Amino acid sequence: MSRYTGAVCKLCRREGKKLFLKGDRCYSNKCSVEIRNYAPGQHGQSRKKSSEYGIQLRAKQQARRYYGLSESQFHKYFLMAEKSNAITGEKLLQICESRLDNVVYSAGWANSRAEARQLVTHGHFTVNGAKVDIPSYLCKEGDVVAIKKSSLDSEKFKALLEADSRVIPVWIEKSAEGTEAKIAKLPERDQIELDVQETLIVEYYSK
Ligand code: SF4
Repeated sequence: MSRYTGAVCKLCRREGKKLFLKGDRCYSNKCSVEIRNYAPGQHGQSRKKSSEYGIQLRAKQQARRYYGLSESQFHKYFLMAEKSNAITGEKLLQICESRLDNVVYSAGWANSRAEARQLVTHGHFTVNGAKVDIPSYLCKEGDVVAIKKSSLDSEKFKALLEADSRVIPVWIEKSAEGTEAKIAKLPERDQIELDVQETLIVEYYSK
């Protein structure tokens, strides 16, 4: 399945919760979930009670959409998590958090994960001094992600650094200038903001 390219607010309304896919708008009173908290479409206002399978499916879809991943990518991460010695659901979310596009977003260098993905693809970041333009690159503990020197002169990054007011997760250490972010430690479950029961995702894929 390819990545969804339609109106992202519909995804939040479908899931009945805010997935924070649109940057500043998500925190304003223009958020579609705040205005119309029912599923899109003709029958959107008559939600049926979900089955056990339906609840598990929704949990999986919410996490997948939150990180902006395709089904095949998300399933691949699940298989990686399953093979690890860690708790599968928690490891799955940790893998998603460690993606370079998520780190760029979490460090406050993009307004959304979609924008972060685009900035990474355009080659604006380095990891440990080497250019990396692959959004799915999985960062490790101790990695230092930085805005490329030549990109610092662009109006986009100048404005971003000037307006830098985002609260950064504790597992990311940002330099005083705001141009580097070190992965101090990969996040524990309680340091991940996603409001989904990851055990439901494990149950979904374990059927
Ligand atoms: Fe979701 Fe953000 Fe759109 Fe609200 S504004 S519906 S949180 S993407």
